[in-house]
Amino acid sequence: MANSKVDLLLRIGAGDERRYVALATTKNGKIKPFAAIIDDKIEYHPEGIYTLRRWEKGRPRYKEVGKDLDVAETARLRLELDLRKKASEAQTEIVSSAAELVPAQFLPSAQPSSTPTEDKRKPRLQRTLTSLRDSFIEKYAHGSDDTIYAYTSVANEFVGLANKRGKSTPADLDEDDVIAFDRLLEFKGKSKTTRASRYGYIRCFLRHCGLNPSRTDDNDDTSGVVTAAQHRKLKAKPKLAVETFNEADLQKLYAVSSDRHRLIWMAFRMLGLRDEELAYTLWSNIDWVHRLWLVRFKPTGSFPWDPKLVWKSKDNEERDIPIPDVLYTELKMWRDRNPKAHLVFPTLNGQADIKLLKALKSDWRKAGLNCGHCHGCLSKKNECGKAKLKTFRATYLSTMLRHVDLRSVQALAGHSDISTTQRYLAPASQSVLQSAVNAAFGAAI
Ligand SMILES: [Zn+2]
Repeated sequence: MANSKVDLLLRIGAGDERRYVALATTKNGKIKPFAAIIDDKIEYHPEGIYTLRRWEKGRPRYKEVGKDLDVAETARLRLELDLRKKASEAQTEIVSSAAELVPAQFLPSAQPSSTPTEDKRKPRLQRTLTSLRDSFIEKYAHGSDDTIYAYTSVANEFVGLANKRGKSTPADLDEDDVIAFDRLLEFKGKSKTTRASRYGYIRCFLRHCGLNPSRTDDNDDTSGVVTAAQHRKLKAKPKLAVETFNEADLQKLYAVSSDRHRLIWMAFRMLGLRDEELAYTLWSNIDWVHRLWLVRFKPTGSFPWDPKLVWKSKDNEERDIPIPDVLYTELKMWRDRNPKAHLVFPTLNGQADIKLLKALKSDWRKAGLNCGHCHGCLSKKNECGKAKLKTFRATYLSTMLRHVDLRSVQALAGHSDISTTQRYLAPASQSVLQSAVNAAFGAAI
């Protein structure tokens, strides 16, 4: 029988001293980076290299996969999948990768045994979950490492859990399996946001199995897996507070940025544009007479240098944004310096600049604004997670809400739904409250 199990180990030492050691895990089963288990004790070996081990004819085969744990875990899942595919092509029994321990509370009390049999000609509902898992991964796990990891791990873990719960075909699945998976993720310490996103992948998998993920009403027991009430609970994400920039930080940012970048950051901050709305603005979209920045859908033929290029704004929200005087003056000077450009802020070779986020992160660091505590600041790239283009827009919207009514701000933002605009009321009222407490306590002393 072919063995498709792949272990992730750490290689430490070199030459004759080379050793492959197991990695320590947290109580939730997450691997601790560079934590080797040596003589039953944990030793940290940051110089180590993650290595995959598989068995071929009873002998270990090793493959080094670098120093990034996420990349290494993705490589492990991929190799396991490849081996499993080869094994199934060779008509051998498929070995489930999900041999990890599942705590007893996630399993039903009685476990009927099932022997999966493969037959691709069977209708989907009668095919085995393991075979559907493999075709699911084959179909969807493409693109970025994150995408591959999400599809592969969700399918492996969900089918692993379902098998342990005694379910072998889609027809066996019900709402409880989906809930049990969510509870398992919670047990493993996943955030509500992550769990809600995993639930999205599970729905995709259920559809792939030929099931309807939604039950249309609670009495309907003929089709659909998850009731509307459960669906709302599973997909709910905690609403994150709106982040805004403060003016002092923005001044520091402007001070270290190039003229071009400074003007771009000011335009984002004073017009509330989405990043592509700014990147695709043509000089003809500036109405100098009425001092307006026109956000316009750009049909074919809008871009003189590329007759086929089209740009469609989000929700097709065209709108006119008044340009404040301070920005207007700077834009006029910028135009005089770039009389031949088509776009307001083109790249060096005249294209739409869609790499502004990277530029912002770099200017943010240069200005000494990195928070030093977030995931981004602590990673090798040293790019602060607080430096986001959409935060300029949030800052603009909450500023405008202090000066004009909600409907007007909705129009300026190009929001199709006013509840989206309402989210920006919180930071706007914070500063009103700040002035109120200052007034109150300033006067009291
Ligand atoms: Zn940071």
